[in-house]
Amino acid sequence: MNNCRCSWVTNDEIYQNYHDEEWGVPVYDDHTLYEMLILESFHAGLSWLIILKKRDNFRKAFDDFNSEKIEKYDDKKIIKLLNNEGIVRHKQKIMAAIENTKIFHEIQKEFGSFSNYLWGFNNNKIIKNMDDNFQNRTALSDKISKNLKSRGMKFVGSVTIQAYLEAIGIFNNHQLKCYLYKKQG
Ligand SMILES: [Zn+2]
Repeated sequence: MNNCRCSWVTNDEIYQNYHDEEWGVPVYDDHTLYEMLILESFHAGLSWLIILKKRDNFRKAFDDFNSEKIEKYDDKKIIKLLNNEGIVRHKQKIMAAIENTKIFHEIQKEFGSFSNYLWGFNNNKIIKNMDDNFQNRTALSDKISKNLKSRGMKFVGSVTIQAYLEAIGIFNNHQLKCYLYKKQG
């Protein structure tokens, strides 16, 4: 079965399920877009599998990614997060998650939704892999990363944003050999 999937998918069941059910499926709801953005900011420098394995712990630690609550996290909560062995205990990333949340809310106010903002960069169109010529950053990820950084977001470099765009389906990057290539049209 593995040879029908994208090459990066290992035999790890958690990875296979993620690839089969989530990766590359277009996401339009702000809550999921927000959760994935925060998880990707923790992903920077680590493997996605590590993040996936910790995702439930992240959800518990971060109030089910309730952005209204996260925006108000204080020093006491930050210390609690730094002592939580179930998540990525990286002070700068935790601080950035809180700051990024404030900026996320500003974008929602400006564009009506974060989804409008994000999908608007490519006129609401999905980019599809045509030739398996994979790049870890693209013109689109450069543009979005630059815009997010200009607004003050951190841990949103172009490589991180490219991974994000693939995860949430703006950039459908299933390989030609993958059984989901045709299925996701
Ligand atoms: Zn695939």
